[in-house]
Amino acid sequence: MSPIDEIKERIDIVELISQQVELRRTGRSYMGFCPFHPNSRTPAFVVYPDTQSFYCFGCHAAGTVFDYVMRQQGLDFPEALRVLAERAGIELRPPTEDEEQQDQQRTRLLEINSLTARYFNYIALQHPRGQPGRDYLAQRGLNSDTIEAFQLGYSLNETAHLLTYLTTKKGYDPADLLAAGVIGQHETRGAYDRFRGRVMFPIRNAKGQVVGFGGRALGDAQPKYLNTPQTMLFDKSHTLYGLDRARDAIRQQDACIIVEGYVDVLTAHQHGFRNVVAPLGTALTSGHVALIRKLSHNVYLALDADAAGQRATLRGLAALQRSTDADTAPQTVVAEGGLVHWSNDLNLRIIQMPAGSDPDDLIRTNPEQWQALLEHALPVMDFYIQYHTAGLNLREAQDRRTALERLLPLLADLDSMQQRVYVAGLEDVLGMRAELLLDLIQEHRRTQRKASQRPARRAHPPRLLGINGPQVHGQTARRSPKPRRSHRCVRPPPAYCRRR
Ligand SMILES: [Zn+2]
Repeated sequence: MSPIDEIKERIDIVELISQQVELRRTGRSYMGFCPFHPNSRTPAFVVYPDTQSFYCFGCHAAGTVFDYVMRQQGLDFPEALRVLAERAGIELRPPTEDEEQQDQQRTRLLEINSLTARYFNYIALQHPRGQPGRDYLAQRGLNSDTIEAFQLGYSLNETAHLLTYLTTKKGYDPADLLAAGVIGQHETRGAYDRFRGRVMFPIRNAKGQVVGFGGRALGDAQPKYLNTPQTMLFDKSHTLYGLDRARDAIRQQDACIIVEGYVDVLTAHQHGFRNVVAPLGTALTSGHVALIRKLSHNVYLALDADAAGQRATLRGLAALQRSTDADTAPQTVVAEGGLVHWSNDLNLRIIQMPAGSDPDDLIRTNPEQWQALLEHALPVMDFYIQYHTAGLNLREAQDRRTALERLLPLLADLDSMQQRVYVAGLEDVLGMRAELLLDLIQEHRRTQRKASQRPARRAHPPRLLGINGPQVHGQTARRSPKPRRSHRCVRPPPAYCRRR
């Protein structure tokens, strides 16, 4: 990536300008008083996060972050480049020819995505055959402000409607359309529109640029959700739906809520819960966590009440472990058997959804209850205690023993302060005195330590959580050559963690 690209990647125009100009959000853009011409009555200065540009309707000043800095500080381009490179922490060297070409392609792909989002949105709003899309959006209770703010759309059920529009009307090269992922290429039948007969959700990066799409099938078409494939711009493990709109609220409220689907995000925002984002049909990854941690360390997971949802929660937690790779601070780690490493800087809470409802339903029908659930979200350790004691009859000695076996590894991994807090709470649950529990924890630690001193018999580290073991294991093993602490605690996954 060229330094110019890198600067564009790292410096957000809204953030940069709002340090000097008071900006207010209006729809998809921000407005304020122009710093380049005297004015104090009508804000005429607009900043567009989508295109990372600004424009003044008064004096017609316009451009990118570079233009802004050049004008604002009276610099020429190389000087502005130096200023911004320093701000972004980038060392300058002349771009290679390759990098310049990449930069140009990147710009073209952004244009294609932006144009495609407008095209899908137009079809959903105005095209006579966009009715199925309009019906779906109405049926989900999404209003016109939400449809505009998120630029929701619809793709016609035709082989090459978008393809024709972008090539013959707009003059784009099919190769670029393929690289942007908006069309596919069939071996014999040639190029075709990737998204057909689907409700379209443009996916934006944190800066508000469209980098890909999610398409939801109507009726029984498969797959139900189709995403843009991995492209130069789109990597779903580093993208969160709604983050561009949620960013300010996450910062202001110092909390980020993670839900599962596009419509959950849309409904939340429509009802004023603006710090809500969703991963794109995947478990949380370290890339997602890295995005959130820049904004807040308070993370809430709102996932389904059913067993599959709980397993997804655990999968999400397992993913948080991998965010340690980027940072040295200890994080929540979930390993086989529910072993938890405590996080010192990420406060993770679990929002427990009532059986049979998801955030979308609940926010629409009962926003007060949603608010109450947020307030009563469980710290992750409490969630684990509930999870590991569910279905056990703790008046029975055998069940108490089972609970203890499941909980000891979790407790052993907490620091002594946290241990005391949880042990005090567990006295009643397990019918066991705190001193005895603390002794057992110590005992467990000693056993673990001894086990770790013995030469390892396994060629591979154990799987993390039976539910998605091989995948997690593969990634962990690749990224961290030395075995993690959690790998010491090896037991077969309990039955409730296994895939059914
Ligand atoms: Zn102006």
